[in-house]
Order: sequence, then C-alpha cells, then structure tokens
Amino acid sequence: MQRIVLIFSFVLLTCWNGNSEAANPAKPIQKDTIKTELGNLVFSFIGHATLLIEAGHKVIYVDPLAQHVDFKTLPKADIILITHEHSDHLSTASIEFIAKPETKIIVNKSAKGLVKNGEVLKNGESKIIGNFKIEAIPAYNIVNVGADGISYHPKGNGNGYVINFGGKRIYISGDTEIIPEMSNLKHIDIAFLPLGLPYVMNFQMLADAARRIMPNILYPYHFDNKNPKGLLDLLKDTPIKIKIRSMN
Ligand code: ZN
Ligand code: ZN
Repeated sequence: MQRIVLIFSFVLLTCWNGNSEAANPAKPIQKDTIKTELGNLVFSFIGHATLLIEAGHKVIYVDPLAQHVDFKTLPKADIILITHEHSDHLSTASIEFIAKPETKIIVNKSAKGLVKNGEVLKNGESKIIGNFKIEAIPAYNIVNVGADGISYHPKGNGNGYVINFGGKRIYISGDTEIIPEMSNLKHIDIAFLPLGLPYVMNFQMLADAARRIMPNILYPYHFDNKNPKGLLDLLKDTPIKIKIRSMN
C-alpha cells in the first residue's frame, strides 16, 4: 500500500510540475537592484545571454532573444546591445519587436547589415547615449577553436560591453575566453562572464578571468544546463560575490 501511495505521489508531483509549466509558461523573471549615483539600476535575468537593464528611466536589452521570454510582457527598448551574430545572441525578429523608431542599436562588426539601424561599435570604441557610456571590449577565443582550426569567436569581431552609469561599471563580456584585454578593465563593479565549452569558458578559465577583473559581483551566465556552483570553491579565497541567477 505504501508503495502504491509513493508511486501515486510521484505521478501526481510529475504531472503537477508539467501542468504548472504548461499553465504558466511565463516564469517569474529574477531581478536584482543595485544603487547608483543616478538612482537604482535593475537587472532582469531573462536567460542564457539575454539581459534587461532598467536605469535612469531607460530600458537596455543585451542580446535579446524571444525564446527565453514573451517580449509582449516587457517594455520596449531605448538601447539594444548585440555582442555578436551567433543565433544564441542575435535575433533580428526579437530586435524588431522590442525596438522603437528612436531605439539606439549597437552591434559588433559582423552584425553590420544584419540588423536594421544597427550601428557598429568596433573593439575599443565607445559611445555616449544620454547618461550611459558604452565601451566595446574585445571578445574572442584563444584556446577553444573548431576541428578545422578556425576560432568560434575570432579576434576583432565580437564585442563585450562595459556600461557606465551613475558611477558604476558593468561588464557584460559576450562570448569570450580569458583574454589579455581583461587586465585593462579597471574598477568593474559587476561582471557577467560566460560558461560553456567548447565555445567559451570552463570553470577554471572563468575563475581565472574573474581574478583578473576582480569585480565586486560576478554573475556567471550563458551556462545552459551546467550548474555554475563549481565556481564557488574556485573563488572562495577572493572577496568576489558570486550570484547565480537563471542565466542558463
Ligand atoms: Zn558565440
Ligand atoms: Zn553564445
């Protein structure tokens, strides 16, 4: 009898989970707020590489992809930042859905021409949009290359971005490994660094990158089904606060 009850409970639980997913496809989005000199900055963790940042009455999306969220439930964009043209980062349909005629759309070199109204920011360039200063940082592979020897992310193409707002510096790295240019990033308050082989970093590489940047807060992102908790041990002797959010 006990066994039957157990089996029944299991089936009920499984079905309940399934039903709840089906009935509520829009999972609540996790959010974090940080204080800046110009008021609160709010991150909404949409998934994988897609981020929504709201600050100074402006709405910024990074790599918006509709597969993670129903954009009808979210505000339209004032600024869109595209790190590179891979399909887990760039969706022209999603950009067109959230863009207004006046939306500033910043893209990397190879996304030029793919995105209507996209303005290229090359590695090392920066742009001021209202109270935001956006810096384009190189993002590329050194070690992880395809069997044909061609880099998944060749140097000089993809962008990471540093967003400066209200005295805070937020680094969203895009698809990159640990690279020498990370040593030049000074005073990063918050860093988003990507996990996932073969295209970006493993735990050790990401921990080494974090030590090079030394942000106050580290958000691992782009981690698919990998559990990023493995990072906690590797960085436990540093003051870096690691925050794990639903960026799989
Ligand atoms: Zn990529
Ligand atoms: Zn990617």
